Amino acid sequence: MDEELTLDPIDWKALRLSFQIAADLCISNMEAVREGPVWEPTPDRVKAHFKEALPQEGASLNTLLRDFEENILPYGTGNGHPRFWGWVHGSGSAAGALAEMLAGFMNSNVGGRDHIANYVERQVIDWCKDIFNFPASASGILTSGTSMGTLIALNVARNEKAGADVQALGVSAGRRMVGYASAEAHGCNSKAFDLLGLGRQSLRMIAVDDRFRLKPETLRENISADKAAGFQPFVVIASVGTVNTGAIDDLVAIADICRAEGLWLHIDGAFGGLARLTGRFRAELEPMSLADSIAFDFHKWFHVPYDAGCVIIKDEVAHRGAFSARREYLQSTESGLAGGAPWFCDYGPELSRGFRALKVWFTLKSYGIKRLAALIEQNCTQAKKLEALVQAAPDLELCAPVHLNIVCFRMVFDKDGKATDALNKQIVALLQTEGIAAPSTTTINGETVIRVCITNHRTRSDDLTLLVSETRRLGVLINSQDVNLGA
Ligand SMILES: *Cc1c(COP(=O)(O)O)cnc(C)c1O
Repeated sequence: MDEELTLDPIDWKALRLSFQIAADLCISNMEAVREGPVWEPTPDRVKAHFKEALPQEGASLNTLLRDFEENILPYGTGNGHPRFWGWVHGSGSAAGALAEMLAGFMNSNVGGRDHIANYVERQVIDWCKDIFNFPASASGILTSGTSMGTLIALNVARNEKAGADVQALGVSAGRRMVGYASAEAHGCNSKAFDLLGLGRQSLRMIAVDDRFRLKPETLRENISADKAAGFQPFVVIASVGTVNTGAIDDLVAIADICRAEGLWLHIDGAFGGLARLTGRFRAELEPMSLADSIAFDFHKWFHVPYDAGCVIIKDEVAHRGAFSARREYLQSTESGLAGGAPWFCDYGPELSRGFRALKVWFTLKSYGIKRLAALIEQNCTQAKKLEALVQAAPDLELCAPVHLNIVCFRMVFDKDGKATDALNKQIVALLQTEGIAAPSTTTINGETVIRVCITNHRTRSDDLTLLVSETRRLGVLINSQDVNLGA
C-alpha cells in the first residue's frame, strides 16, 4: 500500500536531536558573542552559495544546520555584539528567541477568531496602554515596526480629520490634507503620507532649534499659512527620540497647538518612547499620554527579536472604523472558533498575522519592566560617559548635544571640511570592516559625523573607551597615509 505524504518526520527522536544541535549552536554563539568580530562582510564564496537552483529534493535538517552554521550564522548584522551602535538596533535576547521558536510551533494566525494568541496580544496591548498612560478604552495592534504603526495611525487620523468620506471616495473628495513633523523626523512618516495618497510634500518639515527639536512657533505659522491657502491641516507628528541625535520634541507645546487647531497628535516614539519608564525621563515624557496615537518598537530598546512594533490609538471606534471591512466569509459568531470579536484584522490592513505577541510577552515576563528600564537608563548613562570621553580628547569634537542615548562626534585635523568628512567616513568603515565596532555615520549641520546609538544591553563602559582609542588610532593612521600619498 502506498504511503500518503506528510511533512512530519518518520524518526521523531532524530528530530529532537536536531533541535538540541540547533539550540546548542545558537546558545554557544550568543555566549561567545563578545569574543568575535562585531561584523564581517559576507565573502563572495558565501554569496555564490545563495545562487542555487530551486531545490527539487529535500535535505536533512542536520545538513541544513551545518549550512546555517557555516554560511549564515557568522554573517549577520552584528547587532548582538556589545560594540554594535549603528542606526537604531536592538540587541536581542534569549527569552525572545525561545518564544520565537515556540510561536513557530503554535503557527497561530492572529488575524482573528477565538484562540489564545489574541488574548496574549490583547494583554501586551493593555501593558502598552499602561506604559503610556492611555485609557483602558484605547486600542492597539502589534506591527512589524514603527513604519507600519505610523501608516495605521495616520490612516485613522486622515479619516477622522478629512471632513469628507475619504475612506469611501478617496482623498480627492476633500480638501488637500497637510501635516507637520520636524525636519529631523524619520522618513517613514513621509512614506506613510505617500501610501495614504496624500503626497510626500504634504508633510511639512518644520525647522528645528539648536537642540534639534521642532520649533513650536514655526509650526503655528505653517498651520496658519496652510489654512489661509485653503488646505486642511490634520496631524502633527512629534518625535520622541530622533534618529540623528535623539532629540525629543516639546510635547506640551505641540499638544497645545493640536488642541487649539483641532489637529491629531501622533507621536513617533520608535525607540525613545520607552525611556518614559526610566526615572530620568519620566517627567519629560509624561505628556506622551496627551497623544491621539503612539507608534513604537519592541525590537529596539526592549530587545525583542525582529520584528516587533506597536501602535496604540486612543479612540478605539475611530481605529476600528478605519480598518473593519469584513466580507461574508469572515463574519464573527457569538460562540465557536469564529467568536472572540473584535478581531485584529479590524485594526490594521493585514488579515493573516503571526504570533508576534508571544516574544514580547516572554520578554516582559522574563526580565520584568524594572530591569528593562534600568538597561535603558544604563545606555543613557553610557552616552554621557562617551560624551565626556569625546570632550576630553583634543582631536575629537562633539557635534550635537547628548540628551538620550545618541552621541555624534568627529575627529578633526587641521584640514578642510571635505577632507574631514572623508576621514570620518573612513574611520567608521575601518571600525566596521575590522570588526572592532559598528557605529554609523550621519550628517549634522552639513558635516559627516560618527554616530553612536546605544540601544544595547551588552555594552559596557570599557567598550566605549575602546571605541574612542580605536577611533583616534585609525584617524591618525588614515591621516598619515593621506600625507604620504600626497607627498
Ligand atoms: C526605527 C525608527 C523608525 C522606523 O521603525 P521600524 O521599526 O524600523 O519600522 C521610525 N522612527 C524612528 C525615530 C526610528 O528610530
